[in-house]
Amino acid sequence: MLGVLIFIIGTIFGSFFYVVGTRLPNHESIISPGSHCTYCNHPLKFYDLIPIISFIFLKGKCRYCHKKLTHEYLVYEIFTGTLFLVSYLKFNFSYQFFILLIISSLVVLIFITDFKYLIILDSPLIIAIGLVFSLKLYYLGWPEALFSLLDGLLAFLTMLLIRQIGNIIFKKESLGGGDIKFSFVTGLILGYKFTMISLILATFLALPYAVGTLLLKKNNEVPFGPFLVSSLFIIYFFFEKFQYVTYLI
Ligand SMILES: [Zn+2]
Repeated sequence: MLGVLIFIIGTIFGSFFYVVGTRLPNHESIISPGSHCTYCNHPLKFYDLIPIISFIFLKGKCRYCHKKLTHEYLVYEIFTGTLFLVSYLKFNFSYQFFILLIISSLVVLIFITDFKYLIILDSPLIIAIGLVFSLKLYYLGWPEALFSLLDGLLAFLTMLLIRQIGNIIFKKESLGGGDIKFSFVTGLILGYKFTMISLILATFLALPYAVGTLLLKKNNEVPFGPFLVSSLFIIYFFFEKFQYVTYLI
């Protein structure tokens, strides 16, 4: 029962993230104008905006002009709800659960903005850093929280160095600024060692996508953010398993 509630809360967050992720990169306000149909501009009422339910009742069409609405936000609502739900099912109400909610939110936001516009927004990263730091402070205490900041900084500097080396080798921008800033969040959450493991995993995750886009030649700009954040989610979610593997190495 609680799981259902958490899924629903997730879909509401997903709805909000979709607005943030599609408006902020275009420098539009996330408050005004309110939600409207992109075809007829008719303002949408709250009952047009209930995640999933409205979509089913309106059969995916605008109530006013009957044009087909984008399925995208529905996908992100369900995606967010699912991430919130699996986080709860695995960790219940715990420190790990709250951290995973933050990671899940970043997964959704970065998927939207980096795949669509090839950027990672600063504001969600800043909020995430503040929230993670507060959680660490509350659950783990001062020394641990401060050392995590150091891990974040170290991860950030390492990525900066990787970019400098990459730029020299490839003679073009090898890593986006957003990817580098994001590594601060990863360092803060995972610590330095697991951030490096996360970076390796992200590279493996990105490889099929990069090869795919190069073959299709749509364009050769491959966003790295979605893979970095997926890798963070996977490692945090299966942390005991990754810890076990690194003991063996
Ligand atoms: Zn319409």
